[in-house]
Amino acid sequence: MDIDNVMRLVRENIRTLAPYSTARDEYKGDIGVFLDANENPYNNGYNRYPDPRQSTLKELLSQIKGIAPQSMFIGNGSDEAIDLCFRIFCEPRIDNVVTIAPTYGMYRVAAAINDVEVREVQLGDDFSLPTAALLSACDQNTKLMFVCSPNNPTGNSFSIEQIRWILEYFDGVLVIDEAYIDFASEPSLTTLLSEYDNLIVLQTLSKAYGLAALRLGIAFAHPQIMQLFANVKYPYNINLAGMERAAELLKRDVAAEVESIKSERERVAQALEAVPCVKRVYPSDANFLLVKVDDAKEMYNKLIAAEVIVRDRSGVQGCEGCLRITIGTPDENEHLLQIMRN
Ligand SMILES: *Cc1c(COP(=O)(O)O)cnc(C)c1O
Repeated sequence: MDIDNVMRLVRENIRTLAPYSTARDEYKGDIGVFLDANENPYNNGYNRYPDPRQSTLKELLSQIKGIAPQSMFIGNGSDEAIDLCFRIFCEPRIDNVVTIAPTYGMYRVAAAINDVEVREVQLGDDFSLPTAALLSACDQNTKLMFVCSPNNPTGNSFSIEQIRWILEYFDGVLVIDEAYIDFASEPSLTTLLSEYDNLIVLQTLSKAYGLAALRLGIAFAHPQIMQLFANVKYPYNINLAGMERAAELLKRDVAAEVESIKSERERVAQALEAVPCVKRVYPSDANFLLVKVDDAKEMYNKLIAAEVIVRDRSGVQGCEGCLRITIGTPDENEHLLQIMRN
């Protein structure tokens, strides 16, 4: 789908929106005296409003990710980007979105908040992507499809061929959530952005980059889609302290941490296979393992009693009997294994 067709999917009120113009938007040039934004003039490092475009952080992320700043949106976590997708494309009570199940719970919550119907299609055997069923679930009011890859909580990724197939036939915007991409064996699907204008790829600094507390999510898409995100977001959605800390902390090389998490994932998976109460350890491209045990509730409580918390996913359709276990440090993982072996 080309960008003109994507723009036809945008809600009328958003397409015609006159966005809020910040004081700092209205004049670009060298200024030494700022009397335009009703700020306190006495410098404490944070008395001025931050850059609503996040130019410095975008430049930095652009270098790391190899994607132009105009094709980028920075949100208060990916959750902001997810919510903006609904607000930009979905007419409440009229439009709908399609997604897989089980998957990340935020799509459903954002849909409910925006009063938009969600059509969930269960994953196939071994959590495979039901591409044909996903397309069959769509109608002319289906504006968005959310596919999380690597998927939370199942841990598996979907193939680029399957994603390409959806992009070829889906008449809406496909949102690929790549929160866990840095732990995956296959590269990011951002490589498809140059071919498909109806693709939005979400990433985050909360997982591999270790900056969950700073609340920084990223969306990548066609510059015209990113402009819509910029128009609809709160003008100062990212605060200066967060941007400064991110710029500092992004200088660290997280490759060694990510490698350790990946090798620990394989070690823990193997060790769990040998634990009597473990029925199955699903393959993972993420920084967690989905583990089927004899009695998930009992194991969850046993871990809690030992002051270790995992995520009980046993109530989720398709994840019966399963716990989702985040990979920790080697010591933390060893502690977990010891409890589970007993
Ligand atoms: C953790 C996670 C995110 C990250 O959300 P942030 O708001 O950026 O912290 C996004 N998507 C999925 C599937 C996740 O599991």
